[in-house]
Amino acid sequence: MEKLTKRSVQVDRSPLTLSEKAYIPSILKGLSITVGHVFKKKATVSYPEEKRPFSPVFRGLHILNRDEQGRENCTACGLCALACPAEAITMEAAERKPGEEHLYREEKYAAKYEINMLRCIFCGYCEEACPKDAIYMSETVMPANYTRKGFIYKKEDLLIPKK
Ligand code: SF4
Ligand code: SF4
Repeated sequence: MEKLTKRSVQVDRSPLTLSEKAYIPSILKGLSITVGHVFKKKATVSYPEEKRPFSPVFRGLHILNRDEQGRENCTACGLCALACPAEAITMEAAERKPGEEHLYREEKYAAKYEINMLRCIFCGYCEEACPKDAIYMSETVMPANYTRKGFIYKKEDLLIPKK
């Protein structure tokens, strides 16, 4: 007889009973596994109706913040763009004109501010680099889009609405 190794399995070759021939024990075993899973806690959720709670350190879509008077906080200093490892942020600075004090907090503001979400790796460095508390990352998951252009978020998309 061939010597059994550790990886060998001895197969029971005794003749099958009538119930084994009709697969009854196998069917009952399969059903017991299925029924057992019915009463187990579900590992899945019905997204998007049901959402899992986010981790406290989750970083979602960016938001450009306003101060208590509703003025734009961003002064277009460029520190967020400098800190961004993905080079996802671009902006154009402009001077605040007389009479625009109710719109912009300081003399300089971002006339144009864009984030390319296809480049962004959601590292949060922009948020950390900002000295004006002007940009922060929300708990909103970035929605899907049909075009590459749709992933370029402009200032109007990022700016928090006025209260
Ligand atoms: S989260 Fe990171 S990669 Fe995305 S814009 Fe900010 S610094 Fe750049
Ligand atoms: S978001 Fe902050 S760091 Fe970026 S340009 Fe505006 S003020 Fe500067």
